[in-house]
Amino acid sequence: MDERKKDKEKPSTNPPKLPNIVMLFVLAFSIFILLQMIWNMFSREEPRRIYYSEFVTYLQEGRVEKVVVQSDRLIITLVPQNGAEEEYPEGASAIFADFFAWLIPQEPSEYEVHTGRMPDPQLREMLEYHGVEYDSPIVTSTWMRDFLFQMVVYVLIIFLMLVFLRRMMGGLIGGKGGIMGFGQSNAKVYMEKKTGVTFDDVAGQEEAKDSLTEIVDFLHNPEKYTEIGATQPKGALLVGPPGTGKTLLAKAVAGEAGVVFFSLSGSDFVEMFVGVGASRVRDLFKQANQQSPCIIFIDEIDAIGRSRDSQMGSNDEREQTLNQLLAEMDGFDSSKGVVILGATNRPEILDKALLRPGRFDRRINVELPDLKGRIEVLTVHAKKVKMSDAIDLRRIAMITPGAAGADLANMINEAALHAVRMKRARVEQEDLLEAVEVVIAGKEKKDRIMTEKEKRIVAYHEIGHALARTAQKDAKPVEKITIVPRTKGSLGYVLAAPEEEKFMHSKDEMLAEIIVLMAGRAAEEVVFNTKTTGASNDIEKATQMARSMVSMYGMSEKFGMMGLESVQNRYLDGRAVLQVSDQTGAELDIEVRGIIEDCYQNALDLLHENKDKLNELAEYLFNKETITGDEFMELYMKT
Ligand code: ADP
Ligand code: ZN
Repeated sequence: MDERKKDKEKPSTNPPKLPNIVMLFVLAFSIFILLQMIWNMFSREEPRRIYYSEFVTYLQEGRVEKVVVQSDRLIITLVPQNGAEEEYPEGASAIFADFFAWLIPQEPSEYEVHTGRMPDPQLREMLEYHGVEYDSPIVTSTWMRDFLFQMVVYVLIIFLMLVFLRRMMGGLIGGKGGIMGFGQSNAKVYMEKKTGVTFDDVAGQEEAKDSLTEIVDFLHNPEKYTEIGATQPKGALLVGPPGTGKTLLAKAVAGEAGVVFFSLSGSDFVEMFVGVGASRVRDLFKQANQQSPCIIFIDEIDAIGRSRDSQMGSNDEREQTLNQLLAEMDGFDSSKGVVILGATNRPEILDKALLRPGRFDRRINVELPDLKGRIEVLTVHAKKVKMSDAIDLRRIAMITPGAAGADLANMINEAALHAVRMKRARVEQEDLLEAVEVVIAGKEKKDRIMTEKEKRIVAYHEIGHALARTAQKDAKPVEKITIVPRTKGSLGYVLAAPEEEKFMHSKDEMLAEIIVLMAGRAAEEVVFNTKTTGASNDIEKATQMARSMVSMYGMSEKFGMMGLESVQNRYLDGRAVLQVSDQTGAELDIEVRGIIEDCYQNALDLLHENKDKLNELAEYLFNKETITGDEFMELYMKT
């Protein structure tokens, strides 16, 4: 029952790859064979041992067929007792037989025995006399054969293992330089000769475009700059929240200048082994120099550029990679037309050395789009789909404050998908509205069955929010109210439309907002005298707001202008960190509780006063499940 629920995580795109599974099998199989061989080598059973005297007896009885005289023993083949003969494979099949003899332990033949070698000068005569075949083994030849054969098998297995490891570690071992060519340029450099993106494809972000135009110009005609003796900018850092178009801007720079675009992510550099990342940086710059003029775009540069001193426990690999990057940036000749663009959403953790003049000395902020920006982004992306003429993109932009460019692009696509599902030839406004809700709250959960009672409570809860918003002068009017559950967890919500976008909020506005958040629960309390779990998100948001009012915006009597908390990594979760003693922290908590309690009381009062309207509207919503802002206002005015 949250008012608006927002989820701005980027989907991770890492499905398990099939070849890896195949590789795993191959590897497992190879290891199995290897172990078997080793095992068999040591556990091969010897032929049965007999006494020399027994051998002489067998000889005299005529039971010996063949004797192989070795240096320390005699290997004796006896005449099979009942005429059964063993088959010996020959030729090519002998090799297979040998191979399998390694794998499967062979039972030594019953007719093969051995005995020690006695210094018996008459042995040969005796063998001749009894007509026994005799021979001495040629040791070297089979030894060589076995040895080579085993070598081949081992090398093969080790090779397979290396290939597998290489895949696992993202190209560490092997590669161009053959086996063990450590770190030979296996970074996933992604090169585009022509990006085909221009500044027109990037909507809003005018300041960013302005700053980048100079770089484009420089790539176009570097002579203009070198002539006068100006040093070119080597790099610029694009800073901003995820999905605001940093990558897109970098591509547009390459597109506008008509140069090659190299892109890779900072995390591609960081490897398990020290030195690999550094060698990748070296490689990257070598390649780029060959392709100049060009743009090198390093996404998530914070993965390597993290400040070197702020870490618990050092990370040699990252440090080396960073040093290499710094060295390369200093080393290359900027007049050749290589420009490095880095992107990050955590500028505060970057190493100062990276930001020094001559490196990423320009910082370009890429902020979340404002209303105008959002309209432009929507317009750019709307061009790619067939839209009905009646579409009002401005209204969509109004209800999506805080949405990044990527969210808006996604909404247009969702709308197109929805239109297809509805069997329409063009995207209509309602497709867009539905798409906004899908992106904000998830898909409708049609199979979720709520009991009558639950549904009624949700209806009152949402109308509570909407009433509080409308009744207070400072709060925004509503756009839509629904009690259809959504997949992202909400049971219903109020979509508020701001009249205009605000960049500053007064204390009264913030209090009014908290009252609106409290009004959901208050409605449950006023009508049903119950408390449900549905208000958890409201509570979280309200507490957050009240807390920042006291700790950061200086809006409390008690602390006045004292700052108690400060925000870390502003472009990501924007989490606040307490800056004062624990005792002051405890007082802050009390202050926050005071605000919440006051606002809740206000919300209760407000709903008591408007109880008729609450009942009327909630029942209407209960029956219709979704109502528009206009319907709401009409009924609100009537009762
Ligand atoms: P970032 O690198 O800042 O995380 P991207 O550049 O990868 O964001 O943006 C992702 C997608 O979002 C882009 O491919 C584009 O379709 C869309 N987008 C983001 N910002 C804009 C913008 N200002 N104008 C047009 N499209 C945008
Ligand atoms: Zn709520």
